Amino acid sequence: MLDARYSIRTHICGYLRADNIGEDVVLAGWVAKRRDHGGLIFVDLRDRSGVVQCVFDPEASGEAFVTAERMRPEWVVRLEGRVRIRPEGTKNPNMPTGEVEVVISSAMVLNASETPPFEVEPGIETDETTRMRYRYVDMRRPEVLAALQLRDRITQRLRKSLETRGFMEVETPILTKSTPEGARDFIVPSRLNPGSFYALPQSPQLFKQLLMIGGMERYYQIARCFRDEDLRADRQPEFTQLDIEMSFVEQDDVLRLTEDILHDVVKEAGIDLSLPLPRLTYDSAMDRFGSDRPDTRFGMEVHCLGSVFGSSGFKVFAGALASGGRVKGINAKGAGDWSRGRIDALNQVALDAGAKGLAWIAFTGDDQVKSPIAKFLSDEEIVGLRETLEIEPGDLALMIADEHDTANEVLGVLRLHMAEELAVRREGFEALWVVDFPMFAWDEDEERWAANHHPFTMPFAEHVDSLEEKPGDALSHSYDLVINGVEIGGGTLRIHDASLQRRVFGVLGLGEEEVGEKFGFLLEALRLGAPPHGGIALGLDRLIMLLAGAHSIRDVIAFPKTSSGGDPLTGAPDTVSQRQLKDVHLRVD
Ligand code: ASP
Repeated sequence: MLDARYSIRTHICGYLRADNIGEDVVLAGWVAKRRDHGGLIFVDLRDRSGVVQCVFDPEASGEAFVTAERMRPEWVVRLEGRVRIRPEGTKNPNMPTGEVEVVISSAMVLNASETPPFEVEPGIETDETTRMRYRYVDMRRPEVLAALQLRDRITQRLRKSLETRGFMEVETPILTKSTPEGARDFIVPSRLNPGSFYALPQSPQLFKQLLMIGGMERYYQIARCFRDEDLRADRQPEFTQLDIEMSFVEQDDVLRLTEDILHDVVKEAGIDLSLPLPRLTYDSAMDRFGSDRPDTRFGMEVHCLGSVFGSSGFKVFAGALASGGRVKGINAKGAGDWSRGRIDALNQVALDAGAKGLAWIAFTGDDQVKSPIAKFLSDEEIVGLRETLEIEPGDLALMIADEHDTANEVLGVLRLHMAEELAVRREGFEALWVVDFPMFAWDEDEERWAANHHPFTMPFAEHVDSLEEKPGDALSHSYDLVINGVEIGGGTLRIHDASLQRRVFGVLGLGEEEVGEKFGFLLEALRLGAPPHGGIALGLDRLIMLLAGAHSIRDVIAFPKTSSGGDPLTGAPDTVSQRQLKDVHLRVD
């Protein structure tokens, strides 16, 4: 809480109340509003705590009145005066300080301001780039201030929550070596080592593991991570993670610890989280919601229709099932009376999501069945479909016949699309775990196995022996925390055995030499007393975005970057001088 110590003031604007009536105060802040009522001038003075009304009366001080005549919005001033009760009829119950005002006896302009680029008011419509360019003006507005204050409360709470559970905060390097989190590195040329580069950390992953090997046992860090990826609304080239690592743990220990601190933290935003959080395996999340970050705040679950269409005369369904694929569907409740054109447009959504096509059957409000494929289906099939998807008149069945994974994924996309289109209520705060991810995923482009989470993840003991023969079957000790359909974080138990780590690198197609070059230090450390360990990282920006009810992580970052990675305030990224380039042995192509 802001207070007047260590400053040129005696009181804080937003905290003046009836209790202060009669007190002489010195305030400092920004001119929020100035109203000239002929004989009197009113100035709303703002500091971080809020605003208070100040009155300039020529009778009280002619000099202060003259100064107030010059004042304009965003001027920085120091005002002296006495607090009094507002005259009856002028009290403002909507303002915390609305009962009082300060009659000014002396005014000093600390700094005049040019006309601000936009009004320092809530709910302005100024475009985001302009607000980012003048972020220091923007953050005087209540929404931005509130988001940054919430962020501060949450990080303080996290620190406290972890410290009381025996975690110690340790900083890890920013100038480091590439860490494989699956994104592109930002690189920094080394002046002292021509031709060599540091990479900015995509996460402190390897350092936190080294800290465990170093005996720190319980580590956390509010860590900045850097990933050179294409940006989206919820991505920034640099972002903040709450990074955690623990020794001598099993998966359940990490999950329970995370739940406990999450519980403490969301309380700051007034949310009472009931624990333990539900856990869904990756397979069931995909089967039921078509997504590994399911939004479980609404139904419209994906159902398997294999038994309904097992002996279908409709070739597309029969063909998919015969070749080991799936026929699956969702009930888009309430879309049964959509126009043909509107339903047909869903086909493109399915194609974009990777399907070969979309099958649909509309059950109109007056209970007619409309569909281009109805003629290929038997009455039993329609009845079976109705039962499985719990169809009522006015519903629309959307079906995909494809390979197992494709059918799930496409329906996952359609499910969210339809929730949006049908304005399905998605309220509340639903947190859950998705666990037991596959260890590897096949990378179509590169034609090789890739680590699903990262290469340091521990496979299930029962899958270790067959790791090389059947990489696609191996599951891993891994977990993602999902809130309202947003992936908030994830982690894994780590491999602490050098030879197993070497084998995993082998499955990923890394040669001996490459492993030595990139990860020699890790393998060496694993041979020098590595305890079993595991951890997690939570995306702090995203978590705060959810808790603040914001739509973009930019809203909860003090100085965010645009979607093209630029900073409109400083102009970064920018060119550098020839001299600077030469120093680091670079030439721009
Ligand atoms: N380093 C991982 C990440 O950034 C998190 C973890 O495994 O702890 O996603």
